[in-house]
Amino acid sequence: MQAVGLHPDVFVVTSRFWQTTCTLVKSGAEAFCVDSPVLPDELDLLPAIASQAGFEVVGCIATHADWDHLLGRYAFAEAPLGMAESSAARLRGEPGAAQRELREFDEEHYVERPGPLTLPATQALPVPGHCGLGEAELELHPADGHTVDGMALWIPWASVLVCGDYLSPVEIPWISDGGSVSAYLATLERLEPLVARSLHVVPGHGAVLDSSHALALLREDRAYLSALVARGSDAPLPSARRNGAMKKIHLENVARVTG
Ligand SMILES: [Zn+2]
Repeated sequence: MQAVGLHPDVFVVTSRFWQTTCTLVKSGAEAFCVDSPVLPDELDLLPAIASQAGFEVVGCIATHADWDHLLGRYAFAEAPLGMAESSAARLRGEPGAAQRELREFDEEHYVERPGPLTLPATQALPVPGHCGLGEAELELHPADGHTVDGMALWIPWASVLVCGDYLSPVEIPWISDGGSVSAYLATLERLEPLVARSLHVVPGHGAVLDSSHALALLREDRAYLSALVARGSDAPLPSARRNGAMKKIHLENVARVTG
C-alpha cells in the first residue's frame, strides 16, 4: 500500500488491489476517511498511518455504494458512515448485496477477514451540498453514471477533487448495473470545471493525477462514451487503456447500451 501526501491536510493511500484509493482529509482536529483500501492488512494498518500523520478519523465517507469503497469500517469500527442520499437509497434497496459481493471476492482470492462487513445505518449527505469537517466544509457534487448513485468531493482549501470511479488512468468508463451513458457524460460535464481548478484529482482506482492529465482523461472518456453510443462494439478504447481486462469492461458496456 502506497501513501502520498497532496497537502498538509490531505493524503491518499492506494491499495495493492485494483489500485483502489482511500483519501484522508482533515480540518482542525477532525478527519474523514473517504473510500477504503481493499486488503485486510492494509485496513489493519490504516488507523496507525492516520494517527501517525496526526489525522483523527471521526467519520468514513463512501463516494458510492460499490463494496470495494465501503470497507473503511474495518479500519475505523466506531466511525459513522456518510454517503450521498442516492448511495444510501441504493444500499437500502439491495440489502446484503455489498456483503455478498465482498464475500465472493474474498472466497475467490482466498482472503480472510476478521469478520463479516457490518454497515451501520448510513448518514445520507445532501448532494449537491456541503458537509462540515472541523472548521471547514467539503463540497459534494453528484457523480452518477458509473452506477446509479454517487458523489464527488471537492476539498476547497487543498484544491483536491476526489471523484470516485471516474477519470481513472487504469480503467475505461464502466457502465455497471444501474449506470447509464447519459448520466456518465453529465457527470463528466459537471466535473470538468472542478478538474480545471484542481491541483490534484484522486480517481477511485489508479494514481493521483494533476489537472492537465485528468482533463486529458476526461476528454478521452467523453470520446469513448460518444463512440460507444454511435458505434457500439466498434468504439475504439482510449489508447493507454487498451488491454484484455478493459476489453471485457468494454463488452459489458456494449451489452448495457444495446440493452
Ligand atoms: Zn470501484
